Amino acid sequence: MKDLGSFLINEIKNNGPMPLSSYIQQCLLHPTFGYYSKKPVFGVDGDFTTAPEISQMFGELIALSILQTWIDQGSPSQIILTELGPGRGTMMADMLRTFKSYPKFLKAAEIHLVEASSNLKHIQKTRLSEYNIVWHEKLPKFENKHLFLIANEFFDALPIEQYLRKGDNFFKRTVQVSDGKLEFGLEEKPTKNYFLDMRLSDTSNGDIVELNLSAANLSKNIGEHINNFGGAAIFIDYGDWRSLGDTLQAVKNHEYCNVFVSPGELDISAHVDFEILALNSGCAFSKLTTQGVLLERLGITERANNLAKSLKGKALESHIAAHRRLTHPKEMGSIFKALSLFPKNFPCPPGFEQ
Ligand code: SAH
Repeated sequence: MKDLGSFLINEIKNNGPMPLSSYIQQCLLHPTFGYYSKKPVFGVDGDFTTAPEISQMFGELIALSILQTWIDQGSPSQIILTELGPGRGTMMADMLRTFKSYPKFLKAAEIHLVEASSNLKHIQKTRLSEYNIVWHEKLPKFENKHLFLIANEFFDALPIEQYLRKGDNFFKRTVQVSDGKLEFGLEEKPTKNYFLDMRLSDTSNGDIVELNLSAANLSKNIGEHINNFGGAAIFIDYGDWRSLGDTLQAVKNHEYCNVFVSPGELDISAHVDFEILALNSGCAFSKLTTQGVLLERLGITERANNLAKSLKGKALESHIAAHRRLTHPKEMGSIFKALSLFPKNFPCPPGFEQ
């Protein structure tokens, strides 16, 4: 195989059009040519920077919210602490460093990381070598213990499907080949399911609706566990309560481009539809909160002032810029949203509102 593009074209020629979700999955996670499988994609050398890479304050404050939730649920002595898609392991490193001040929590925690890319798993192993950690490629069925789970910019990387509304039906978009090139196609038979039925009331002819069924399933499994055994989940991502329209985006070398240009070289993502994550979880969920408000409520300004005391010059400037970038409505403060799941009859994690 030369490259992912020719491999996918061959696949489609042999087996017929492929679902958009399979195309995205291959582009991101193909073991040799997938975007996450190849070069370092985060941080200064990479294509994009995520909140934990911008400042240690992000992981520290989320850790405090998790810690208080654990206390609110009676400080159970055996818990599962897990992160979905930990990237370079930065957020988990910042959280675990914070937990060191609360040894009872750290002692209670069995740490599990869910990572599909072997390249990133390797980076996480090096970064977190001082801790005892179990890795999984997929969300496992955990033991019957409280589960505290975080996911930052994870759900946006899961493959979506898109559906085109024609009349009162939704038709799934596919990826097909024409004149040796990849392009969108459409299934002939309409798709029917609960989530699409729900969208008949707020869409019209010609609209695109996106569904992230892998995300919906994950949220269901996580919610079930939290309902049965306690714990909480915090999901942070870009998106909104309900998705509307085509939000699929492909970025190459910091520029937006067509989703079929150089597969495997592109970061492909889509807005997260938090409504489906919340409703499908089956457990109690918070209001959707913007990242800026969440971090302010958790005390980012106090933490930023404290850290600033030992900084000067360029380091101080970049610390101030990082605080702004994480919280300001024109930067990540409003675009990024957070949702928490928790057991019925318990308070929601600090920073959130019910
Ligand atoms: N949370 C990190 C990284 C976000 S990028 C941060 O905020 O910096 C998305 C992460 O999810 C990467 O680690 C990627 O390899 C992982 N990932 C993507 N799809 C996945 C899947 N289907 N299963 C498990 N991990 C996945």
